Amino acid sequence: MCARGVSWLASPSVTGSESYHRTRGGPESMVRRVFYSGVDRPNPVGRSRGQTRDGYEAVELLVNDAARGSRSAMDESEKLLRWFESQKRLLPWRESREPYGVWVSEIMLQQTQVQTVIPYYLSFLRQFPTVEDLAAAPLEQVLAAWSGLGYYRRARQMHSAAKMIAESLDGFPSSSRELERLPGVGPYTAAAVASIAFGEVVPVLDGNVERVMARRLALAEDPKQSAVRKALFGAAASVLDSEQPGESNQALMELGATICRPKRPVCDECPLKQDCLAQQQGNPESFPAPRRRRTIERFELAVAVVRRDSSILLFRRPEESALMAGMWELPNVPLSRSVEVMAGAFEGKYGGCWKLELTDTIINHRITYRALRLHVHLGEFKAGHSVAEGLEAAWISREEQVEYAVSSAVGKIVASCCSWY
Ligand code: SF4
Repeated sequence: MCARGVSWLASPSVTGSESYHRTRGGPESMVRRVFYSGVDRPNPVGRSRGQTRDGYEAVELLVNDAARGSRSAMDESEKLLRWFESQKRLLPWRESREPYGVWVSEIMLQQTQVQTVIPYYLSFLRQFPTVEDLAAAPLEQVLAAWSGLGYYRRARQMHSAAKMIAESLDGFPSSSRELERLPGVGPYTAAAVASIAFGEVVPVLDGNVERVMARRLALAEDPKQSAVRKALFGAAASVLDSEQPGESNQALMELGATICRPKRPVCDECPLKQDCLAQQQGNPESFPAPRRRRTIERFELAVAVVRRDSSILLFRRPEESALMAGMWELPNVPLSRSVEVMAGAFEGKYGGCWKLELTDTIINHRITYRALRLHVHLGEFKAGHSVAEGLEAAWISREEQVEYAVSSAVGKIVASCCSWY
């Protein structure tokens, strides 16, 4: 029960197929709603009414309730919008609702922090100002522009999607349903782009919104469970402003990023505190249930820096690599105690004839769930020998790096032990 005697979503059902939406006025005005249809993903709502996509039928009811006059939901949604208007961070992708820019920002922001994304976003849009420019650019150039941002599959998929839009679609897809057909665009990204750029009344459920809603409902269950996800999605829908869905969605995401943080949420400054069950219970950090983290896999690698004048020798990872396909990296093999054994391993992997000298430099580097300890060696690739068949190698100077999709580990290593580079 909330502080004002209003249960915003009483008894959120995470196991059944229905829940209750109670308006101010007490039990007698409690309205039973068919909450979920038991299918896995949300219906589009608002403008997309009538398109039945994957269940969540009550999302539409909830949004429309808010629009029609469920005062609690309206209050919440208005408070949220007012808070966002006064507190939102000024970010470059918020300067325009142009769909291409919104899409680029949403893809870049997946798994990546805002401050990291800003310079990449600005430089990416300078290089590829329109979706047609992106489609026309060689993949290598797109990967080079993405270099250092990580999760390179995103760049490959964006490039494929841009080609699809430029070559076979009639303009930029304008609904979440159409957007989801693009490579690399899942339900969250589709909803974010559709609501921000096209005003589609569809809620988003990213990690930040998930946390805010789990706390408002005091749901301790795993948000990845289908039923829990449905409850969180419905809760997000109920505070969605049907007139300004893009602003409303951004407000919720911003709230999760800046106020309802994983640790030490600032409940005193939260526009949604009045009806937040976790805040009333005094234990917001207990929600949602912690995610089961993937076990970190650790690798010890020997990395060779081979110098020629002011360039270093880099190899291109095969296109079929599961990880960082097509990226340029320093040659590396599993670490061994014997330099001779490792020289043999370099020869086996890259061809040529290798001489190695161990340095004191060890670099720790993370790639998703892989933790790499990179033991840096100065290497010699003896003249007269060529690289193994099928491999691409290049001597690359610092100035030339912008033209190549170079893995971020290269930058870390040369910065720590190659002052000449
Ligand atoms: S009141 Fe606190 S826990 Fe609840 S949504 Fe706001 S910041 Fe999060």
